[in-house]
Amino acid sequence: MKINLLQCGYCHGRESVVLKGGRKTKLVFPALVGLLQHPVHGNILFDTGYSERFYEVTAKWPEKITAWLLPTFVKPEESALNQLKAMGIEAETVNYIIVSHFHVDHICGLKDFPNAKFVCSAAALYNALKSKGFSSITKGVMPGLIPSDMAQRSWIFDTDKKVSQENDEILGAIYDLFGDSSIKIVELPGHHNGQIGVILKDEKGDPLFLCADICWLSDSYRENRLPSSITKLLITDWKAYKTSIDKVHHYYKKHPEIPIIPTHCLKAIGELRVQKPEYFEYWKGTW
Ligand SMILES: [Zn+2]
Repeated sequence: MKINLLQCGYCHGRESVVLKGGRKTKLVFPALVGLLQHPVHGNILFDTGYSERFYEVTAKWPEKITAWLLPTFVKPEESALNQLKAMGIEAETVNYIIVSHFHVDHICGLKDFPNAKFVCSAAALYNALKSKGFSSITKGVMPGLIPSDMAQRSWIFDTDKKVSQENDEILGAIYDLFGDSSIKIVELPGHHNGQIGVILKDEKGDPLFLCADICWLSDSYRENRLPSSITKLLITDWKAYKTSIDKVHHYYKKHPEIPIIPTHCLKAIGELRVQKPEYFEYWKGTW
């Protein structure tokens, strides 16, 4: 399966917030999106990042609070929709979007792909569909970003008996989405309801683990370091979060050869760019 990584906007944050004992330095957090071109199942996205829709939905109360807390930057040409168009890929040809979780920086483009099925966990979908009003802030899901037919178009992999399941001694249950080992879904709860990551197999048969927001920076899973306590305000389940980081830490120790990429970690993305330049053919990040 061909893998291309795209950056769809970014926001700013402090290292000391996302990593306990970190510096006060302001960091750029890119919104990473995976374009997966499967020989049988066609175009698939892993998350959709930011788009200009972020500014529309945060123009009003209470969503405005998120824009204040999260200074976000995205130009029209940086949306997943427009980057795909520039690559000659029409929105209608995207067959699946794997939604790691429903935080704003992962779902701004869901409405742009009319034929896509949304692959997500039951817990993530349940939380997304019941968010409205002020709970959109506390539950971290903006209803304005959720397509009206979300439920009908969702493929809830963890209740689908046809999706084969295996057990990894460290990561636990792993779901082989198409039964061909090209996309294996890993449950990484804690950061947000029903969060998932994916272990992908590229054209050479090499693995790539996109671990979504298991942590903001790769130093977290490498050193098993938590973020600062203030992030408990954002994190859905602190205990599950710690368990998920611990799992990924041990997986990394056992498989140091597998790149494990958190969505917002420029350091991990930069290292991957050296190791696997072929994933970055269309990368538009300016750093
Ligand atoms: Zn998140």
